[in-house]
Amino acid sequence: MRHIAIIGSGPAGYYTAEACQKQFGDAVRIDIIDRLPVPFGLIRSGVAPDHQSIKAVARRYEAVALTDNVRFVGKLNVGQDVRVPELLALYDAVVLATGAPLDRPLGVPGDDLPGVIGSAAFVGWYNGHPDFADLDPPIDGRDIAIIGNGNVALDCARVLAKSPAEFEGSDIVAHAYERLGGAQPRSITILGRRGPQQIAMTPKELGELAHLQRASPHVDPADLPPVESDAVLEPGQRKSVALLREFAQPAPEKPIPIRFDFFVQSVRVEGAGRAERLVVERTQLGANGQAVGTGETHEVPADLIISCIGYRTPPIPDVPYDEHRGRFANIDGRIAAGLYCVGWARRGPTGTIGTNKPDGFLIAEEIAGDQPEPAGKQGRAGLDALIAARGLDIVTFRDWQNIDLAEIERARAGAPREKFVRIEDMVTASRG
Ligand code: NAP
Repeated sequence: MRHIAIIGSGPAGYYTAEACQKQFGDAVRIDIIDRLPVPFGLIRSGVAPDHQSIKAVARRYEAVALTDNVRFVGKLNVGQDVRVPELLALYDAVVLATGAPLDRPLGVPGDDLPGVIGSAAFVGWYNGHPDFADLDPPIDGRDIAIIGNGNVALDCARVLAKSPAEFEGSDIVAHAYERLGGAQPRSITILGRRGPQQIAMTPKELGELAHLQRASPHVDPADLPPVESDAVLEPGQRKSVALLREFAQPAPEKPIPIRFDFFVQSVRVEGAGRAERLVVERTQLGANGQAVGTGETHEVPADLIISCIGYRTPPIPDVPYDEHRGRFANIDGRIAAGLYCVGWARRGPTGTIGTNKPDGFLIAEEIAGDQPEPAGKQGRAGLDALIAARGLDIVTFRDWQNIDLAEIERARAGAPREKFVRIEDMVTASRG
């Protein structure tokens, strides 16, 4: 029997499990280990609560989880509770699918002031991740600056701008629903260090800004390049830029302006003991297409600054790490003998959820090629012995199903679930 441990139960983890099942059939046992008592990683804690159709993919992961040769081991922190070398001694292959849940730092003076947060924290807060349940961001009547021109910046702006009615059918957690529902930001500014044609936003997500009840998007026509130059863009990007052109047309004012501020890079955050404004430098596109500062600065009022500029994978003891790229040091997913990585932990935080699927198949093939025959390791029996010897209390998939049921039962009217946001509450619910 071949034993595989996958660390991380998000999309990359489950796609890898599915690929290993296809690759090795009945001759494999797979343990999917997560530090949280709940599975599905980014689907639960990253995908926006008002994008329920994207979250539906969790049903596919559930089907994998419920097969006989796959087991979920929740609330087990690899690197702390068990070390990677210990797992390598027990399993033929250890695959790190730990994603990229850490914010890349903004890296300007004042970025440590209260009121400056990263998108992992803000998204984690409205999605009920236990690490960020106490974030308490200032919103009502505040000017909010969102740094970055990717889809995460759009998620943050949209969630901040929505009225309570617009969260109907979403699984936004109660603490965020109540805070956002009773709050109305004075303004939201989305800052990009490059221009409209360089955005990393996709048309569907950008288009949603045009249909908000109490907020309207605005683009300064002066930031838009000549319309003829859109012709060289690939079709998706051309659609996105066309939307930005629409946002530059006069439109009825709604209470919350969402302003796009292009060609600006952050210089410093200022304020008396907390963020009050962001000083930015005007940029232009350099010959290589990168942003180049012009030396001209101005201030953007900002009581809350959310940087949405990408993520890093947390290092794990004993695993080679690429500091510069913020992910595990690997070649095509191979880290060391028997040790692999997939998804954002391998490639960095890019692509859609589906991008992780081919990643999983690649790793399954690599495992088969590197180790044509299993080495007769102990696998889950050995892990269970370690867990018992250390007195650790893990959560199984059956336990998660109890949590799932309890969350569905306590949902507010119209919501699919009300998530538990504390580990201890998850564990209590897991006992049924
Ligand atoms: P992203 O798409 O890589 O965008 C990051 C943005 O941050 C870029 O505009 C980048 O600008 C900017 N940036 C980076 N460093 C910066 C700095 N120091 N100062 C100012 N701006 C900086 O990342 P993301 O938005 O975090 O999204 C991660 C992935 O998840 C993406 O693949 C995204 O499409 C996906 N996602 C999808 C959805 C959806 O489909 N609904 C929702 C959320 C996320 P430059 O281009 O100039 O580097």
